[in-house]
Amino acid sequence: MAIARDFAEKPVDALVIGGGIAGCTLAYELARRGLRTTVLEQSMIAAESSGRNTGTLLSGPQKEVVELLDASVEIYAELAEGPVPFEFAPVAHLLISEDDASFEAAAAIADRYRAAGVPMEKVTGKELARDYPRIGFNVAGGYSVGRAWTLEPMGATHAFAHAAREAGATIRTGLRVAQIFSRGGKVQGVLTDQGIVPADLVFIANGLWMSDLLRRTVGDGPLPGLPFTAGRGWLIQLGRLDFDLPWIVEELTWPDQEELGRRMRLEGLADVAAQRDDQPAVEAICLNPMRGGDARLGASVQPAYRDLVRNTDMASRIASRTLRMLPGLGSPQVKNVYPGNRPMLSDGLPVAGATAVEGLFVHGGMGSIGMHAAPATARWLVDAVLSGDGNPPRQWLRPDRFPGWETV
Ligand SMILES: Cc1cc2nc3c(=O)[nH]c(=O)nc-3n(C[C@H](O)[C@H](O)[C@H](O)COP(=O)(O)OP(=O)(O)OC[C@H]3O[C@@H](n4cnc5c(N)ncnc54)[C@H](O)[C@@H]3O)c2cc1C
Repeated sequence: MAIARDFAEKPVDALVIGGGIAGCTLAYELARRGLRTTVLEQSMIAAESSGRNTGTLLSGPQKEVVELLDASVEIYAELAEGPVPFEFAPVAHLLISEDDASFEAAAAIADRYRAAGVPMEKVTGKELARDYPRIGFNVAGGYSVGRAWTLEPMGATHAFAHAAREAGATIRTGLRVAQIFSRGGKVQGVLTDQGIVPADLVFIANGLWMSDLLRRTVGDGPLPGLPFTAGRGWLIQLGRLDFDLPWIVEELTWPDQEELGRRMRLEGLADVAAQRDDQPAVEAICLNPMRGGDARLGASVQPAYRDLVRNTDMASRIASRTLRMLPGLGSPQVKNVYPGNRPMLSDGLPVAGATAVEGLFVHGGMGSIGMHAAPATARWLVDAVLSGDGNPPRQWLRPDRFPGWETV
């Protein structure tokens, strides 16, 4: 359904469910193109993952990840000089390997980065230790990556919300969507805790709760589910560093999106019995020197259920790894330690596109790269809604790559 024709005849009411980065980027795209846009957020803007992440935009060894990065960076640049600052800046990126075996294995991963168009320069641990004595590297070696960006994620999400408001959108917080209505195969609106809100277009962008609303699409639903798992991660908010850290420092053991998605799958009761939801799938340093002078240290991923707190030793593991590999950091002040949930699909990539119900779309599955991906995927989705069938031309992004969605 291309709505461009309808849109020319009468105003279109678009509802966005969720006020994280997926919802606020959509609201910005919809409002600036003249749709009457409302965001409904059950809690506060950036209340969940979008306010609780590391704030890095990094290259990866997958061409999709690089394409998302390039497109999103251009969109962040549109907002970076606007009224809501969010510490957006380019920064160098250093990938490190602790021991000789992992450094040797890293050569093949570095080749995959290069094949995806990312320049990589090899550096030995001795060179790092010699050139940066203040950090006291204790690693076998690493790769210096051409480019990365840092941002403050809560500010970035608010910057989109603000830009959407300036373009005419309404943002309603503290209002939960309980279900979505459709009739005769077409979306009608949503039911909130304060009554029914009618709409021509509805976008489900509510992170890890997307499965709940696919189930609670009534009239023509329920819609098929999507293979979500919570990718639980722990972060350590450090105080001000007393020296300049020139890169985002990340361990090269961090897997690509496909591998990450695979490690996240929880298939059933046997996994709970085996406590697979209490074991880390990834444990690696990711240290982001924020432009505000402090730093955010992660990161881990475990397959988890949304509401169950597990893996509570993770912060201690991350802190120990960091002190082992970067002993020169000393013992910077810790301001907070907290977990967050990544809304992760089984192939680790986001989803954006149409559902079987006319006028109802999904934008989510942002996994470990939501800050990095959402500005681009929101733009592509809105382009596809306004001038096509609501499915962006990139097959790897569309919901019909998942079982049950093929006929949509
Ligand atoms: C530890 C950690 C580190 C990370 N580091 C990075 C990083 O460095 N770079 C990066 O790109 N990504 C990173 N991520 C991933 C990123 O945070 C997520 O991919 C992204 O924030 C997801 O955004 P979202 O808008 O889809 O979901 P959310 O931010 O979770 O937003 C969903 C919103 O929907 C609301 N909602 C839910 N149900 C309803 C309902 N029924 N009605 C109304 N509102 C509803 C929720 O309250 C919530 O505010 C990290 C994540 C974690 C946990």
